[in-house]
Amino acid sequence: MHNPTTDDSGYAWPTCSACGRELWHTELGRQACRPCESRTATRLAELPALFAQLNTTASLMRGARRPGAATSGSRVPPIPPRLEVLSLVAAGGVATRLRDIEDAWRAELQWAIAPWRGSPTEAVPGHVAFLLNNLPWAADGYESVDQDVEDIRRLHAECTAALPGDRKPGHVHVGLCPAVLDDRPCCAQLTASAASHRIRCGSCGTEWVGMDAWRGLRRAQEGTASPVRSTAAIG
Ligand SMILES: [Zn+2]
Ligand SMILES: [Zn+2]
Repeated sequence: MHNPTTDDSGYAWPTCSACGRELWHTELGRQACRPCESRTATRLAELPALFAQLNTTASLMRGARRPGAATSGSRVPPIPPRLEVLSLVAAGGVATRLRDIEDAWRAELQWAIAPWRGSPTEAVPGHVAFLLNNLPWAADGYESVDQDVEDIRRLHAECTAALPGDRKPGHVHVGLCPAVLDDRPCCAQLTASAASHRIRCGSCGTEWVGMDAWRGLRRAQEGTASPVRSTAAIG
């Protein structure tokens, strides 16, 4: 429960159920305040593009090994799988969590349950469209909207955090850091920029400077794609 302020008469001024802020006069009667509604709308609107990027990353992780692929230096380096990416794009991930919210809103509105929207890739934009269309209703009058505002915030944050590295223009992903720390590869996403001969891992600080070093990096990354059993883990 939030702790609304009380005046001398003991009257509690209504607050936003999502962020706890006192509602403005023009917001009275609403469940969630307008800023919460608009932040949620922005996050929802960004989810389809985030999901598409995660899907691309996940397919690189799944299709890491392509026997017979060209051996030229331009081929995509293998990307070791990362569980958080694979689970966000799979059943039970983003699409399922959005569907659960849509189903709850439909139940409250006494509408038919959500139609089958296909694979997660097909379903995410459909769920997002439904939720964006009905967000004004939910923010206005749906009693459990605070949970959904929080779920959408968390989902957006998980998708953003799972996306590899730096997405600024001019930087390209060049695979994961192969430097070994505590017997485990660092695996932070590395990025290269046309403006620099230096690739520096933002996580462990390892650097590769110049083409020879970059070729060594590529060889080391390919080494991490074939499992090397650590004797330290046995016993
Ligand atoms: Zn709020
Ligand atoms: Zn590193």
